[in-house]
Amino acid sequence: MTYQDPNAPGAARQESSLESRYRKLLHAVPDAILEVDQEGRITILNEAAERMFGYNRAEFLGLNVENLVPAAMRSGHVKHRSSYAAHPNTRPMGTGLELQGQRKDGSLFPVEISLSPNWIEGSLHVIASVRDISERKAVENRIRVLREQYTAELTMKNEQLEARNQEVERANSLKTEFLASMSHELRTPLHTIIGFSELMAEQLEGPLTEKQQRFVGHILQDARHLLELINEVLDISKIESGRLGLKRESFDFNACVEEVMAGIRHQAATKNILLENKNAFHDSLYADRVRLKEILYNLLNNAVKFTPEGGRVWIEAARQGDALHISVCDTGIGIPEREQPSIFEKFYQVGDTTGGIREGTGLGLPITKHLVELHGGAISVASQPGKGSSFRLVLPLIQEQAA
Ligand code: ADP
Repeated sequence: MTYQDPNAPGAARQESSLESRYRKLLHAVPDAILEVDQEGRITILNEAAERMFGYNRAEFLGLNVENLVPAAMRSGHVKHRSSYAAHPNTRPMGTGLELQGQRKDGSLFPVEISLSPNWIEGSLHVIASVRDISERKAVENRIRVLREQYTAELTMKNEQLEARNQEVERANSLKTEFLASMSHELRTPLHTIIGFSELMAEQLEGPLTEKQQRFVGHILQDARHLLELINEVLDISKIESGRLGLKRESFDFNACVEEVMAGIRHQAATKNILLENKNAFHDSLYADRVRLKEILYNLLNNAVKFTPEGGRVWIEAARQGDALHISVCDTGIGIPEREQPSIFEKFYQVGDTTGGIREGTGLGLPITKHLVELHGGAISVASQPGKGSSFRLVLPLIQEQAA
């Protein structure tokens, strides 16, 4: 606003126009502005005050300000006024309180009030600026109601989810229990079948005809296969229930490789597959011997299974720093790159490229991976369709004393 010199010609007119501009300014404000004298009488007000409280200007002037306060608060308000007079400063009124104004018709509405002193000829007047916050309160209330509603819904959904989770967990552990006991029960008669078939095949109790030998051979082969499958199911159920632990011991690694190879040799020979041990680690290894054999057997078994007649399968192993690197390699059908991450998932079998060979469960690799990881190691695959695959293990070499 520019400064107006009161002595300049036309200053009075300009002065009054300035005053009218101030008045307009006062009336343009949406907040009610009231001036109250020391006795609490309203002395000046703007138009917003008339609209807000429902009194006209004539009714307002001389009206005691307590009339604008809810009846229940009036006596308190008088006290507040006198304490304000003791420490007059510009500040909001009733900080932290929910203030209300009362209209002429007696209805109440939420307000925010700020006060400032106005000294007139030595007498303290107070300017109160009153903001009607009904809309803001309504919005806040709506938000609060919505928030409460959402919180209640969320709590309910959470509870439902929690209950569902518990059900799923229970069903899962029942399934695991069932699989574990089932596999266990199935193994006992299978061992009997395998044991007696072996006895018959040895022909110690009398000779068998050629046909009978063939029949016994089939019984043995399928019973052993069934035993492998049952063992896998048992393993996976133990893994899922967290009951599969390791029993580490020190043993001759190469002897272990030879044992596993001996177990697969017959299978490889029937497909005319050359099986080679290219291990360069002729030391003792501290690990779970039975589980390591299972790892190597699973990988070798797959290698022979997925390698066509006349191919090659071999194991390489060597120490690199503090780890033993083992690779089980074949010149078989290979695994397409996009399938490679999935083969370590439960029940996953590569579709077309497996070439119709579907005799497994799809549990071998997930179990193998878990066993390798239990040993603190890692497994990965490198493969090219039509060329072959190589499964690589890295096992940390742990000292027996350190374990
Ligand atoms: P299974 O052998 O019982 O089917 P695995 O979990 O051992 O289950 O293997 C999963 C799948 O990975 C196999 O079905 C096969 O498609 C693929 N696979 C595993 N090893 C080889 C391999 N050496 N060569 C080609 N494919 C393989």
